[in-house]
Amino acid sequence: MAIPTKLTLEIVTPDRALVTEEVDEVQLPGAEGYFGVLPGHTPLLASLQVGELWYRIGQEKFYLAVAFGFVEVLPDRVTVLAQIAERAQDIDVARAEAAKKRAEERVARTSPQSDLDFERARVALMKSMIRLQVASRARTRV
Ligand code: ATP
Repeated sequence: MAIPTKLTLEIVTPDRALVTEEVDEVQLPGAEGYFGVLPGHTPLLASLQVGELWYRIGQEKFYLAVAFGFVEVLPDRVTVLAQIAERAQDIDVARAEAAKKRAEERVARTSPQSDLDFERARVALMKSMIRLQVASRARTRV
């Protein structure tokens, strides 16, 4: 079988289908770290962490903040089922800054040994930081 030259990328959340595009490359935040996918990739299933996802069409990269869910990779298709996904331009920076401040205060108040509260605060902090990072990405040329 011929090696595919493009990937069909689909990103859906419980609320909506956010992205359906023919792309050249995708990078995703997997549970074991960021990984890249080019057309012809070996099939795999992975879980998604809190992080930045980008996809490239030609020379242009597009960024999203994603958090939790799953990704299925096939040689010609990447399907992302994300609990949360936001395009860079849809991120409300003031909201993310306020969330970051609250999360920092909660992390400082709780102890890593203690409990769920610390873990929740840590995740909230990561989400807010990733949102700010993704929002700061203008569409960049590679
Ligand atoms: P906050 O404390 O500001 O509500 P959160 O991390 O608790 O943030 P989530 O539970 O992750 O929020 O998300 C709830 C919904 O709000 C999701 O649909 C998510 O996409 C959206 N959302 C959260 N923060 C932002 C943001 N800064 N800009 C745009 N959408 C956001």
